[in-house]
Amino acid sequence: MKGKLIKSSLIVLLAGFLLVGYYYSYMIRLVFIDSFGFIEIADEIYTQKKFSEKDQKKAINLISEARQRVTDYYGEPLANPKILFVSDDEEATKLNLPKGIPGVAYLTPWESYIILDANKIGIDVVAHELVHAEILARLGYLKRTMEIPTWFDEGAALQVDFRHHYIDLPTITSAEFFRVTALDKPSKFWSDDAQQNIRNYQGAKAAYAKLLGQNSSVGLYYILDKVKQGEDLLSLIDRLRQE
Ligand SMILES: [Zn+2]
Repeated sequence: MKGKLIKSSLIVLLAGFLLVGYYYSYMIRLVFIDSFGFIEIADEIYTQKKFSEKDQKKAINLISEARQRVTDYYGEPLANPKILFVSDDEEATKLNLPKGIPGVAYLTPWESYIILDANKIGIDVVAHELVHAEILARLGYLKRTMEIPTWFDEGAALQVDFRHHYIDLPTITSAEFFRVTALDKPSKFWSDDAQQNIRNYQGAKAAYAKLLGQNSSVGLYYILDKVKQGEDLLSLIDRLRQE
């Protein structure tokens, strides 16, 4: 009886592992990326092996320009995420980069991964994803998950993202401000409606800029340090606004 129980527990456990492995196979690929046809062309920057020397250089330059943009706006970043460039849809799918999307960040408790489609990517998306990785690096996984509302995370990232949807935004109305700052969880921020998602991004960028005002460029690292030490994000922003 006991033997049977152990055997069925093992089967359930194995099935569980297989299921997790199936749904999160991209994560296994990311962790062991060297074994999946990628090479490290610079510190933590990877491309598929088939990239020409010219395309490798292009990738390295893009990352350094995006880092410079983040440095110019927020100050020098600390994060050193693993950045992967892919150049074909098949590999992009295997790494769970959604179709039509130029780049995505997977922020895990052990590492930040930024996956970029070399054919679609530009400096805006890279700088945007680097800010997400920076927030994680400065706060740690748990604090970021628990303390940082999604609209703030996106708002901070969008300050260095100048894609055409996200520039020259009108002044945010108070109704829109309250709507957006209630989008504190990923499940509230994103929906299946692409247009609504763009409006949420625009609102998050405007709400962040409105709240932080003159601190919007210099204040992020200070805010993250304070939150890491235990301050509440929203009370801290309130205090900064009154100073
Ligand atoms: Zn984002």
